[in-house]
Amino acid sequence: MNLKYPKYHFIKTGYIKNCQVCNSNKIHKILDLGYQPLCDSLLTEEMLKQPEMTYPLRMMWCENCTNVQIDYCVDGKIVYAPTYPYRSGITKELAVYQKNISKSVIEKYNLKPEDLVIDVGSNDGTLLSGFKKEGLKILGVEPTNIAKIAKKNGITTVQSFFDIKTSKIIKKKYGLASVIITTNTFAHMQTLGEFIMGAYNLLKKDGVFINETHYLLDVINGGQFDTIYHEHLRTYSLKSLITLFKPYDFTITDVERGDRYGGNIRIHATKGKGRKVSKKVKELLELEEKFGLDKLETYEKFASRVKKARIKFMNFLISSKMKNKTIVGNSSPGRCSTLLNYYGIDTELIPYLAEQPTSLKLGMYSPGKHIPVVNNQRLINEQPDYVVLMAWHYAKPIMEQLKARGLKSDFIIPLPDFKIVKNSEV
Ligand SMILES: [Zn+2]
Repeated sequence: MNLKYPKYHFIKTGYIKNCQVCNSNKIHKILDLGYQPLCDSLLTEEMLKQPEMTYPLRMMWCENCTNVQIDYCVDGKIVYAPTYPYRSGITKELAVYQKNISKSVIEKYNLKPEDLVIDVGSNDGTLLSGFKKEGLKILGVEPTNIAKIAKKNGITTVQSFFDIKTSKIIKKKYGLASVIITTNTFAHMQTLGEFIMGAYNLLKKDGVFINETHYLLDVINGGQFDTIYHEHLRTYSLKSLITLFKPYDFTITDVERGDRYGGNIRIHATKGKGRKVSKKVKELLELEEKFGLDKLETYEKFASRVKKARIKFMNFLISSKMKNKTIVGNSSPGRCSTLLNYYGIDTELIPYLAEQPTSLKLGMYSPGKHIPVVNNQRLINEQPDYVVLMAWHYAKPIMEQLKARGLKSDFIIPLPDFKIVKNSEV
C-alpha cells in the first residue's frame, strides 16, 4: 500500500512560513503573545536555579483555508518529554465526558465485541475504559509515562508516538480497527501526514477516524486567546479540516460541536467513500462563512477584544492590590500559562495557584512567572478576597465545588470578558 503524504504535512521544528494545512503563503499575523515558555513545563524548585527556555508565540491566520496556526514549532520531543504532567482522569467532568463518548460511538457505528477501538493519545485510559466496559476490544497509544498508569488500570497501552511505523506494528499484533479516536492531540503534532496515514493503515474499509480538537469558531467568538500555546500548532475550522484531509482517501462524513476546552469540534473521517455525508457538514461550513472565519477583519476584531480584556483585568488586579485585597488563582491548566505570561502576572500580583490535592503539579512553579502550585485546602484556610478561575471554561462546577467546601471568596472569571461573580451568586 502506498502510504505517502504531502511533504508539508510534516511540520519542521523552528520558524514556519507557510500554512501547515494547505501550504499557502497567504498568512496574516493576528496576535503577538511575545516570547513564552512551554505552557506545561512546570518547574521544580531545583529548576528555578537554571535558565528557562522561551520561544516566539504568534497567532497567524491562513486566508486560503482559514487555519489558525503559530509560526514557531518547538520540537515535539521537548514538548512531550516523558514527564509531561497531564492526566485525563484527573477532573471529574472530563472523566464523565470521555466515558460518554463511548456510548454515542458504539451506537452510531453499531460496534460489536469483536470490533477494535484505538485511542491515540490515550493518557490514563479514561476514554477507553468506557468501551472496555461495553465489552469491546481496546488499545491505547500514549507516548508519555502516563501509559504506565493506564496499564496499571488494566488498559492495554502501547507507549509510543503514533506514526506509520507504529501503525504497522499495531496492525500486526492487534489487527485492523473499526474506530480510531483521538481527542485533544490533532492540534499538537508535527507529524500530521504520519498520523493520518498511520490511522488509514490501521482502519478497516469504511472504518472511522474520529478526531476531536478545540474549535476555531469558539476560540474567535469567545476571545479565547489562552488556547494559543506552543502545544497547539494549529486551531482548526471545519473548512481547514476538510482541506487537511483532501490529499488522503478519507471523507469527512459527520461533524459535532461540544463545549469541551471552551468549545470543540469532533469530525468523523471515514476511510474511503462508503458512507453518506451528514448534512451537518454543509451546515457548519455555512455557519463558518456567515460568522466571517474567512475574513481578516473578524480576526482583527478578536485581537482588539483580547487586548481590552487584558487591560481590564490588569487594571482590576492592580487597583485591588492598592486597596490591600488578596487575590489568588485557582487551578493551573496549560492554557493559564499563556494568560499569565501575556498579561504579565507574577507572584506579587497572584501569590499562588491552588490545585486539587491529587494534582501532579503540586509543589511546582508555573512556567515563566514561577507562581507556586499549592494544595487548594489553602483557599479554605485563608479565604482570600478574590479567586481567579484559570480553568474558566469549567467555571460553574468549580465555583460550586469550592463554595460547597466552605470557600467564601468572590470569583474572577478572566475570559471571554472579564467578570466578577459574587460568592452569594454561585
Ligand atoms: Zn491554509
